[in-house]
Amino acid sequence: MFRNKEGDYFSYSEKIILDFSTQTPYNIYSNVGESLLREIVAPTHCPSCSSPLVWENDQLFCYNTSCESKTYKLIEHFSSTLKIKGLGPSSIQKLRITSIPQIYELSLGEMVEALNSEKLAAKLFEEIQDSKKVSLSEILPAFSIPLIGKSAASKLCSVVSSIYDLNEEACTKAGLGPKASNNLLTWYNTMFLREYKWLPFSFESNEVVSVIEPKGVVCISGKLTSFKTKAEAEKVLISKGYIVKSSLTREVTILVNESGLESSKTKKARDSGVSITTNLNQLLGN
Ligand SMILES: [Zn+2]
Repeated sequence: MFRNKEGDYFSYSEKIILDFSTQTPYNIYSNVGESLLREIVAPTHCPSCSSPLVWENDQLFCYNTSCESKTYKLIEHFSSTLKIKGLGPSSIQKLRITSIPQIYELSLGEMVEALNSEKLAAKLFEEIQDSKKVSLSEILPAFSIPLIGKSAASKLCSVVSSIYDLNEEACTKAGLGPKASNNLLTWYNTMFLREYKWLPFSFESNEVVSVIEPKGVVCISGKLTSFKTKAEAEKVLISKGYIVKSSLTREVTILVNESGLESSKTKKARDSGVSITTNLNQLLGN
């Protein structure tokens, strides 16, 4: 309800549209003339939960975390981001879901009863179980953290492999701005550690780009004495962080020549300043 200067009450639905999206719950748009807008006294309390509203950058926010309007939007956004089919606004209400963890606490029996359909319940139950497979980059944008959408999440997941690695340094490395970083870390220290860490997700990412510098680029020339086959030696070299090339390309930094024979490859390597080793085990530190 809003009040004009004269103190008359009128319903906001007639004159004003309220945007209940989680990020700007009280962004007030007017579909009426400027003159009327000036007469309107902004609400001091949330029409949904009656909590006091807070002004921030010309917008009013309801900071009550259990505000029903906000909660429903949060769950809807979570469900749609994870593409849980059948968990739209109406089933969220029917199932009386008021927090994200509750989605995963529902039993099939409870769903059948609330949705009044075995078929619908079974489908939704399966969808919910399926949603547990998502990776960190898919789940982060689902939590309605301001400024943390798909793009920020995928940047983050290229530098951290687990949600527990999130810190200021990781955010900077991922190229997140100070506001986004602050939003994310605040959410992590409050909502995540208090409530969401128990959710049935791995909270891991498998998208981390390897940033380990190769120890060297190796080319093997001739027969080996320390390994039975070249393939075996290559496997060990790769596992120890080397890159293996079959021919003496420009990137090669180490030439392995265990036979000791001065092959054309060895000569070429020597001429171009490539280091030559006659003992692969020594190189590997075995
Ligand atoms: Zn509220």
